[in-house]
Amino acid sequence: MKPSTYWITGTVVVGVLAVCVVASKDADSRGRRTPALAAVMPGQSFSHRDAKGNITVEKLERSEEEWKQILSARQYHILREKGTERAGSGALLHNKDVGTYKCSGCGLALFKSDGKFESGCGWPSFFEPLEGAHITETTDRTHGMVRTEITCSRCGGHLGHVFNDGPAPTGLRYCVNSVSIDFDGEAADADEKPADDPRDDR
Ligand SMILES: [Zn+2]
Repeated sequence: MKPSTYWITGTVVVGVLAVCVVASKDADSRGRRTPALAAVMPGQSFSHRDAKGNITVEKLERSEEEWKQILSARQYHILREKGTERAGSGALLHNKDVGTYKCSGCGLALFKSDGKFESGCGWPSFFEPLEGAHITETTDRTHGMVRTEITCSRCGGHLGHVFNDGPAPTGLRYCVNSVSIDFDGEAADADEKPADDPRDDR
């Protein structure tokens, strides 16, 4: 190789390294400095699928003090202390709009409107999650019952429970507190991805 070739190769290598360092630093500081903003940023998926189809959810860790500052008292009680809202009281119980339900603690997308159904149980109910890996299931033996608790796989927030008495095709009923989820209607997302959402039936 000519000396000029070495010089060009060296410059390119140093340049690529510098870009990588800057990019990773930027991502780090953005994640730490404005986590609340990141949590509500529309269009963020917070999860990635690798070539084998496995999904990795970006974890969000906060101290209980931080959660207390970010969440309302009601949200804190339900999401962090595994509380339950009064049956029939939830704002999203009868919501039939088309869109996505996200964790109200961290913004991870959890359910789609086409997976929601009227169960009559008093809480928003879904027969399937948007992505199984976005929801973590744990055995819950409190209150003299054995139930399966569901939590957000990103922030660990309590969502509710899943039961085996749902409709076809899954036979499952994800029973979720309205307080634990935020609804993003499709109209709100239209600005972000106009290309793949041309639906307008009305
Ligand atoms: Zn969450």
